[in-house]
Amino acid sequence: MSFSNLGLSDKVLAAVAATGYTTPTPIQEKAIPHVLARRDVLGIAQTGTGKTAAFVLPMLTLLEKGRARARMPRTLILEPTRELAAQVKENFDKYGAGQKLNVALLIGGVSFGDQDTKLMRGVDVLIATPGRLLDHTERGGLLLTGVELLVIDEADRMLDMGFIPDIERICKLVPFTRQTLFFTATMPSEIRRITETFLHNPEKVEVSKPASTATTVTQSQVGVGREPHEKREMLRQLLRDAKDLKNAIIFCNRKRDVAVVYKSLQKHGFSVGALHGDMDQSARTASLDQFRKGELPLLVASDVAARGLDIPEVSHVFNFDVPHHPDDYVHRIGRTGRAGRLGTAISIVSPADQKSVAAIEKLIGQPIARADVTPVASTEASPAPAREQQAERAPEERKPRRDSQRTRGGRNKSRKPEGADRKPQTADRKPQAAEKPAQAPSIGRAMPAAAAREQHAEPADHSHLPAFLLRPIRARG
Ligand code: AMP
Repeated sequence: MSFSNLGLSDKVLAAVAATGYTTPTPIQEKAIPHVLARRDVLGIAQTGTGKTAAFVLPMLTLLEKGRARARMPRTLILEPTRELAAQVKENFDKYGAGQKLNVALLIGGVSFGDQDTKLMRGVDVLIATPGRLLDHTERGGLLLTGVELLVIDEADRMLDMGFIPDIERICKLVPFTRQTLFFTATMPSEIRRITETFLHNPEKVEVSKPASTATTVTQSQVGVGREPHEKREMLRQLLRDAKDLKNAIIFCNRKRDVAVVYKSLQKHGFSVGALHGDMDQSARTASLDQFRKGELPLLVASDVAARGLDIPEVSHVFNFDVPHHPDDYVHRIGRTGRAGRLGTAISIVSPADQKSVAAIEKLIGQPIARADVTPVASTEASPAPAREQQAERAPEERKPRRDSQRTRGGRNKSRKPEGADRKPQTADRKPQAAEKPAQAPSIGRAMPAAAAREQHAEPADHSHLPAFLLRPIRARG
């Protein structure tokens, strides 16, 4: 099958050829003809399958006819996070270069004024996170009555983030007769319910089992004790010992732990960036860019910030915490082993994580191999700093927000999920837990000379680290 059999316009085919893609991916092959036939589509596909182009390419073809009117976008794409929204915009820029289309991004952390000016000029494609979109409609600066095509992307993630009430409101603001494309990686019952409400006789397109993990990823788990510092020590050791490590994403369950692990690795001389939903937009973009370009080989991230990001060729994924939702494990390790490449995924498992490991093994239908790693030596003080202990006890931040405490026109303003449009905070810049220099090794075998030097002199001697992990860190913008 080639792209030219799918019914795409010549302009779009030329743009695809310019990117070098010759064969449509299965989701593209199956979905594009239905989108062009103006059918509703229910696409069950994960990121990494080429699903973005599966809706962007036919949309570009359909948009060649017609013109946008002020404040009335012709098409609307809803994304759960700012990064995903920005990534979809990049796809329109790439494939739509030959067309004079106005594509606007409505995401939090960016001034209303600039967004308003763009809306005023008339928009062909509006890509938005739900919160910011509703803020614009409530201010009266945006009318959704001209929307001919609506894309709801990453719907199961929207559910996890508590966006479903917002999505339901938005769906009532767009015309009943619009075409709807709905993408989700999994089909929990609540997602099934909303597909029944929002989609009209959809074509169902499914490309891979939601819970399957790539066979090219080597998965393992290493056990540690209960103390938070044991995880950090194990992480450093795994990073130092890792074979063929080009770059890695280190996932934490909580935003505050992203900040703690980021600071810890930085202190120990690793070149590392951070990504979580409370960072302001410029810091998030800077971290991601540096990671993509290979300037920072390590990225500490939370699920919400990292979900669906297109970061090619990640060699390693580390789960600093085992995710509470087994689906998140599949998504996390899906960052590596993409497009048939080899990847490694290692989970650091404390006694508190064991229940989550069991749930994951059940979902993926296979055990995760246990690797025996003896911690070399403690280079951190135990007990952990008081604030950090508090963080360990704090309730899970990523609690699904399925309630509907509504204020002001029905929107839930009371508890914003991570990644939602919110005022920029600077949590990533504030030291969260000062890590004291260690007094004595607490676990494992005799301390090697390098580790001993590290304990007694700050900054540490990093001669034992691979050179690429020690590249200087550029100041953040
Ligand atoms: P997505 O699932 O949309 O996040 O896409 C994952 C990656 O696949 C992106 O880097 C795309 O640029 C790439 N991609 C999309 N379509 C194709 C294709 N037909 N052939 C090869 N790569 C593709």
